Amino acid sequence: METRGLLIAGKSVVTRKTFASLNPATGEAIGYASLASAEDVSAAVASAREALPAWRATPIKERAAIVSSAADAMIAGAGEPMSLTPSPLKKLIVEEMGKSIHEADIEVFETADMTRYFAETATQVLASKTLQLNTELWPTKRSIIEYEPVGVVGIIKPWNYPLEIPMWALAPALMAGNTVVFKPSEWTPLVGVMIGDIFTRAGLPAGVLNVVTGNGQTGAQLVTSDVDMISFTGSVAVGKRIGAECGQRVRRASLELGGKDALIVDEDVDVELAANGAMWGAFTVTGQVCASAERIFVHRAIADEFIQRVVEKTKELRLGNGLDPSVSIGPLVSQAQRDKVERHVQDAVKRGAYVLIGGRRPNAEGLRHGFFYEPTVLTNVTPEMQIMHEETFGPVMPIMIVDSLAQAITLANATRYGLGASVWTRDIGKGEDIARRLEAGMVWINDVNVALPQAPWGGVKESGTGTDLSEAGILEYAHTKHISTETGSTQTRDWWFPYTA
Ligand code: NAD
Repeated sequence: METRGLLIAGKSVVTRKTFASLNPATGEAIGYASLASAEDVSAAVASAREALPAWRATPIKERAAIVSSAADAMIAGAGEPMSLTPSPLKKLIVEEMGKSIHEADIEVFETADMTRYFAETATQVLASKTLQLNTELWPTKRSIIEYEPVGVVGIIKPWNYPLEIPMWALAPALMAGNTVVFKPSEWTPLVGVMIGDIFTRAGLPAGVLNVVTGNGQTGAQLVTSDVDMISFTGSVAVGKRIGAECGQRVRRASLELGGKDALIVDEDVDVELAANGAMWGAFTVTGQVCASAERIFVHRAIADEFIQRVVEKTKELRLGNGLDPSVSIGPLVSQAQRDKVERHVQDAVKRGAYVLIGGRRPNAEGLRHGFFYEPTVLTNVTPEMQIMHEETFGPVMPIMIVDSLAQAITLANATRYGLGASVWTRDIGKGEDIARRLEAGMVWINDVNVALPQAPWGGVKESGTGTDLSEAGILEYAHTKHISTETGSTQTRDWWFPYTA
């Protein structure tokens, strides 16, 4: 089985220590990745530092051409969107992360679209601007804003969208003229290496993107290395550590962290729509989505009907290896992830929750060796249960019945997280009003977990401090420089010395 190397200064570097990448559907290795040492991380950062002057001087149109051709390469051989053609990239995402081919297809096409957005939009967003000043006060001043790269950016990302989430940082960082050291998750290192291959083939000069595969320690080494910024997506616990370290070193940090999104179902809702939405919101990617619907608040007037429908629909979901197109639910990414889901469900049951369906590992032959867990619907849940206040990141839909929207809003806001939320109602005005009262960075009305390239993605409270996607997601990777010119010909200024009455 092949061992993939690190990407440093344009060269593949296979290290002495390596680690296996497992297929979570079978528990078997699909390949090996190099384990970067502290010296390898330093070499990668040094290579990015060396490549920085030439890359930042490269005209933005040339940078855009390379980033666009990386987008083309992602969908090469991938067929049409929703065609499920198993291109090498889609197949690797399924085999390494465990999602279904449908979900890998969405990830690949969505990422290519977002990458093109960054390539096309950055030119205008990063163009220098002349400010309109108050000419009565400042008749002879000229102010120009220019956007400069931050420098060498360390990009540390999770496994749940192993292509898409890294590209939300890589594409704008490269467009803004930064060079990069990318540390993919230890659970999806081979997709990380393939991202390096894609950019190399797209013509990115050596050293502009370096890839160091490894574990949390590798990430920590990158954070304390000579980088100018860290772009991190992952858990709150690790995000806090990285934020503290970057604060100490006065380095920029973009932190996109976990969530515990509420899904609020109003009594006036189209129940079939809300049930279908809740199913996808809670179970897509086996619930391993930062913006998963992790807490369902449903109005008492329609609760029975809603619950009956989601239980019926859950019975229809097929578990298995994601390469089989009839499979809806793949495994959890790892044993540790499944253990956490089990712990949360057991805690809920111990405290009085009812398991309406699921709540265990599947028994079927063919599923035993993978990290599968049956999609689970719980009722009679309460806010004290772990399942209602800690991020579960698994295929569990805990449902709480409420008597009013006001109660739903209070419960939805009673969390340290603030990533996304969704509201399901026939009354759009009411939905938008509720959206304004929810403490979340993103609220979807009659949909859930929608990422659009033009719209900002990010959370409030402990869900993070960063913004991905949109124009703001490009400016994360640029310093805003002010150049102020005095165009008048006087030899002094009214406000200089000497001060006279
Ligand atoms: P994680 O925090 O365990 O790991 C994320 C990355 O950080 C990995 O590459 C890991 O190797 C690295 N890392 C671990 N310890 C580190 C340390 N001490 N210093 C530096 N790097 C370190 O998270 P995960 O399990 O990979 O991902 C799941 C989490 O990501 C969930 O909480 C999920 O909500 C979050 N997430 C958030 C978003 C968002 O947009 N807000 C998107 C996707 C995932």
